[in-house]
Amino acid sequence: MEAVVPEIESVLHETRSFAPSAAFAAASALDSQRLAALRRRAAQDHEGFWAQQAATQLDWQRPFDLTLDDSAAPHYRWFVGGRLNASYNCLDRHLPERAAQDALIFENDDGDVQRWTYAQLHAEVCQLANALRALGIDKGDRVVLYLPMGPQAVMAMQACARIGAIHSVVFGGFSAESLKDRIEDAGARLVITADAAPRGGKRVALKTTVDLALTEGCSSVERVLVYQRLGGCVMDPMRDVWWHDVVPQQPTQCEPEWVESSHPLFLLYTSGSTGRPKGVQHSTGGYLLGATVSMQWVFDLRPGDVFWCTADIGWITGHSYVSYGPLSNGITQLIFEGIPTYPDGERFWRMIAAHKVSIFYTAPTAIRSLMRLGDELPLRHDLSSLRLLGSVGEPINPEAWLWYQRVIGGGRCPIVDTWWQTETGAIMIAPIPGAMATKPGSCTLPLPGICAEIVDEDGQPVTQAGQGGLLVVTKPWPSMLTTVWNNDERFRDTYFGRFGPRVYVAGDGAQRDDDGYFWILGRIDDVLNVSGHRLGTMEVESALAAHEAVAEAAVVGRPHEIKGEAILAFVVVRGSREAALKADLPRELRDWVASRLGAIARPDEIRLVEALPKTRSGKIMRRLLRAVGRGETAAQDTSTLENPAILDQLRGS
Ligand code: ATP
Ligand code: MG
Repeated sequence: MEAVVPEIESVLHETRSFAPSAAFAAASALDSQRLAALRRRAAQDHEGFWAQQAATQLDWQRPFDLTLDDSAAPHYRWFVGGRLNASYNCLDRHLPERAAQDALIFENDDGDVQRWTYAQLHAEVCQLANALRALGIDKGDRVVLYLPMGPQAVMAMQACARIGAIHSVVFGGFSAESLKDRIEDAGARLVITADAAPRGGKRVALKTTVDLALTEGCSSVERVLVYQRLGGCVMDPMRDVWWHDVVPQQPTQCEPEWVESSHPLFLLYTSGSTGRPKGVQHSTGGYLLGATVSMQWVFDLRPGDVFWCTADIGWITGHSYVSYGPLSNGITQLIFEGIPTYPDGERFWRMIAAHKVSIFYTAPTAIRSLMRLGDELPLRHDLSSLRLLGSVGEPINPEAWLWYQRVIGGGRCPIVDTWWQTETGAIMIAPIPGAMATKPGSCTLPLPGICAEIVDEDGQPVTQAGQGGLLVVTKPWPSMLTTVWNNDERFRDTYFGRFGPRVYVAGDGAQRDDDGYFWILGRIDDVLNVSGHRLGTMEVESALAAHEAVAEAAVVGRPHEIKGEAILAFVVVRGSREAALKADLPRELRDWVASRLGAIARPDEIRLVEALPKTRSGKIMRRLLRAVGRGETAAQDTSTLENPAILDQLRGS
């Protein structure tokens, strides 16, 4: 069980607020009246609300008899008795009306573009699904996907779903060791990979990594299916099969496997920001419903939209808002193989202009790194197609939010800051952009049907504005995880160990303001305790990032004899680190934070570094920084760390 703090004090006072333009609001399907009606309905009858959503938003082969079975709580089962297929809902049901509409627009690392209509995608997914069946894969078998970001990854997820196999996507940047752990934990029979893939101009040798993982263990794996992306890899004739040898000759029709609503759709290991990754298990019906409706509500979908979510399919965001949500809603989306800074820092902006992207969804880490390059790069491109911007993955500091809003959104696009987790399956707290004002740094309000609350150490609701506490969800919701794979106990302990089987504990700290808006303060186990004051890391980091010399900052606590904890800040500066040191920037920054947040939040030490330790999904790994701050050299799980080389620099000084 993670450490729990009774309350967290808020020191950041962000008061700016942005209402959608009248034109935006008028064109939104979900305006404030309709939103209010949805919220009312959900508040009056939680299960009835979700039952109605499920019946109207998804196609069922057999309707469900019972909306929610909570007899084995916290293992909830939604839509009991219902049978459906996720791939049918993402593809087949669109064919009568959208066969010729683009489903995927794919831009590869080199800038070449390929398109798949719904009809083409359906046909190729069916072929792949047939090939998987021919390879002996059945309903319930686990298939690990270790693929580059691209159409084949989406197809592989859809093909697994089509035959009822359970996919587990492992991010293509993970090492053989991490891959092996996940394959073994999942007990996968098949691995789908590519020979190699380009990423930011470099070659990533995926198949070599798979070979390495499999020689070290993974006895459950019988076959490896290899997509040829670049050419040049060694095949094991007994085990490995080329995609092009077994897929294209398959029939382009494939009868979907109709599965129970609670049948596992996929496993996904969490990003490992806080500890050893957990194999989060998601259901078919409940998960798909969450991905489908959240996509409609939060992204305000309209005919003609071109949606672009930059997340890799290795993360939950790539599951819900690349593979399942967009396709289930029948929209057109852009997917991208590469990275934001290759061949240069204009890549994203050039792509938005070229493909006339209307909704853009990315992570604060990308926004901050592109912001650091200056306004001139985005201003060179016509970004007028954009009408809505989104952020996910970490708290977004107000400075980055405002830059995103002003420079990328031209001041006209609402920003949806979406709070959710691998475990929640879909967005939980976020603005409905046509119906609500947004505030920089706040994820605003829970979606209809989502009962998020803030409680104190005893589980009592925190009612006072500005008082922090634990973010919890007090009623089950359809897209919640059903368990941790093979580890019910870890599931119960981690998420329901604190307040019993009815209260999901997210592990994040949060507070509400006078309008009831939620502000995420950071992870509970990252909260600072300075002279008896509990401060969220997010607020101190935001204050630092508001200084013009600061590109990015991470804050941790370090034991202090008198204060309990002292604040240690790691700061990446814009421009030269040497020059900043010479100008005594650390002192200036300490005063700056004190002047903005009060003396209590003044960092004791500011360490200027060239980069922060990040997970592969781009999140700051504070647990590592905390260990560094404490002078610990004890082993930390760094298997999901993006840039291990940075560790020495963080320690030095
Ligand atoms: P692990 O659980 O292995 O430590 P992780 O929590 O980083 O990894 P994810 O499920 O990808 O893995 O991330 C969810 C977490 O990301 C949330 O609990 C929250 O801390 C953070 N987060 C996501 N979106 C937001 C947001 N919009 N605002 C603030 N924090 C966010
Ligand atoms: Mg987590």
